Amino acid sequence: MSEPGRVALVTGGSRGIGRAICERLAADGCRVAVNYSRRADAAEEVVAAIVAAGGTAIAVGADVGDASAVEAMFTTIESAFGPVEVLVNNAGITRDGLLMRMSEADWSDVLVTNLSSIYLCTRRAMKGMVRARWGRVISVSSVSGIAGNPGQANYAASKAGIIGFSKSVSKEVGSRNITVNVVAPGFIETDMTDALGEGAKSTATDSIAVGRLGTPQEVASAVGYLASPEAAYITGHVLVVDGGIAL
Ligand code: NDP
Repeated sequence: MSEPGRVALVTGGSRGIGRAICERLAADGCRVAVNYSRRADAAEEVVAAIVAAGGTAIAVGADVGDASAVEAMFTTIESAFGPVEVLVNNAGITRDGLLMRMSEADWSDVLVTNLSSIYLCTRRAMKGMVRARWGRVISVSSVSGIAGNPGQANYAASKAGIIGFSKSVSKEVGSRNITVNVVAPGFIETDMTDALGEGAKSTATDSIAVGRLGTPQEVASAVGYLASPEAAYITGHVLVVDGGIAL
């Protein structure tokens, strides 16, 4: 359980894994800011579900790769709830393709959305966390960032970058009672993996020890744990949630 009333921001909280994380943190007593970039309706649906379950949430639109949008988002959250205490860097995109054919736009869009966003949001959240001498930063990487994956040079680079970033920052702020950790999911059932089609999903399932894809809620459980008081002595860690994928 997270400590009651903590202010949490989940980037890309409107769908998939992010939505499950929002609902988990709200159930654990956090007041949750549900970030989205394009689909306000999806974020409002998450807010409504949290409120219907007795929790507290707001939707906040911002492209997390855009510095001024991130600043405006934090200002909105601070006015509504106060400083962000639990930051979950979850927003991410794919633009898959073999390196020889990968455009500069596909490289930079993925690096900006998946990695620069984490620099922007973590640096901004850190101000309040250092002042409060308490904070939790949890970033969603991927097994692709650990093992690599053909057709995902951009995505894997961004996800590996999250790990180096988080380990470095964990050493900078650990003495302030702020932990910085990473969750690295394997193959999880969301819109992102739906786009791959049934054939690719069934091939992937063959290499997963538990014999099935994971659920967003199973990733959210790992995030909920790392946000909880029980995880106070865990930092700079990469928690793999992949059902035992053969890497
Ligand atoms: P989805 O595609 O289902 O959802 C992505 C979410 O990110 C949406 O809420 C979307 O909001 C938001 N988002 C996208 N771009 C931006 C942006 N620029 N600014 C703010 N929000 C943005 O993804 P998943 O739930 O599958 O993935 C969530 C995270 O988990 C990602 O970081 C992904 O890389 C990682 N992951 C997923 C795996 C999987 O198997 N699904 C495996 C390993 C890691 P909107 O709709 O408004 O654009």
